Amino acid sequence: GSTIGIIGGGQLGRMLSVAAARLGYRSHIFEPGANPPAGDVAHAVTTAAYDDAKALRAFAEAVDVITYEFENIPTGALDLLQEVKPIRPGREALRISQDRLTEKDFLRDLGLATAPYADVPDAAALTAAMEEIGAPAILKTRRFGYDGKGQARIASVSEAAAAFEELSGSALILEGFVDFSTEVSVIAARGLDGSVACFDPGENVHREGILRTTTVPARLSAAQRTDAVLLAARILNALDYVGVLGVELFVTPQGLVVNEIAPRVHNSGHWTQNGCAVDQFEQHIRAVAGWPLGDGQRHSDVRMENLIGDDLDGVPELAATTHAALHLYGKAEVKAGRKMGHVNHVLPATKA
Ligand code: ATP
Ligand code: MG
Ligand code: MG
Repeated sequence: GSTIGIIGGGQLGRMLSVAAARLGYRSHIFEPGANPPAGDVAHAVTTAAYDDAKALRAFAEAVDVITYEFENIPTGALDLLQEVKPIRPGREALRISQDRLTEKDFLRDLGLATAPYADVPDAAALTAAMEEIGAPAILKTRRFGYDGKGQARIASVSEAAAAFEELSGSALILEGFVDFSTEVSVIAARGLDGSVACFDPGENVHREGILRTTTVPARLSAAQRTDAVLLAARILNALDYVGVLGVELFVTPQGLVVNEIAPRVHNSGHWTQNGCAVDQFEQHIRAVAGWPLGDGQRHSDVRMENLIGDDLDGVPELAATTHAALHLYGKAEVKAGRKMGHVNHVLPATKA
């Protein structure tokens, strides 16, 4: 059979591997760190650094198509890999989403609403940006942030200098604070043939910058639902995208504001594992393997809860709970703030 190459061996790579296996594919993980969660379920694992040209080439030669579970793959590695096998989603999606400034410019050029933002190359630029955007605001590193890391909130102008001090050394962006009622996300997919399918928007609750729960259906009007799906499709088409994409949105009285995009399967799409016939992981494998997109209609309501750090202690109780589907990542070491698994609480769908 064919082999799907997956860059990154975390829980997303693990669940992609499982989905690939279900469709009759083998998976081969490329991961620099030892003992990746995906290694337990993949057919093969390459443990090597992203600057190991020989290992990268051997990996690319062993697989039929290359996909990834995270966006911060070094450009040099991508150059090398794509000489050998197709990378899906393509380079443009990675280039744009690796940098919050490039990403915001891209979204703005598409006519989509974002938080007000400004490039902050130095302290003087921050003073100017604070004058333009005002408080409250959030200073963020342009690259490598996740789970709210690399961010400093600025409640009033007097806090700007301390925020800059905390994050200096990295390229930064200032964002105005969006006064949202709720956060939602759309998990969208585009096939090799250009067809687009979106899962129902999910409503997200974050704590300390980390996603805690996603609930479907989200509390959205029919018009907001349509907007969410149309804007996701616009992003997919603009990128000539192949695969699953996560779009994080703020709901405001003025409409939907795009927070960020993730060119991969997304934590806020884990509910699809127990809410849809075809979940986001299978949808992604279908897309990158050139299959038609599958049926992502929601057949059940779901509340997904992340199990973070010591939340894992609740597993025995969750295992005995009705309508609760557990998904554990097999991570050896429990750490505060580390995603160890999630549980999908499933109920029959309330409305279509
Ligand atoms: P992820 O793990 O989703 O990749 P991240 O580290 O990239 O997260 P963001 O999504 O930028 O971080 O921010 C994390 C959370 O912080 C958001 O979901 C939102 O709750 C809040 N937040 C971020 N930016 C803003 C903003 N401009 N206005 C209001 N809230 C914000
Ligand atoms: Mg992010
Ligand atoms: Mg986010």
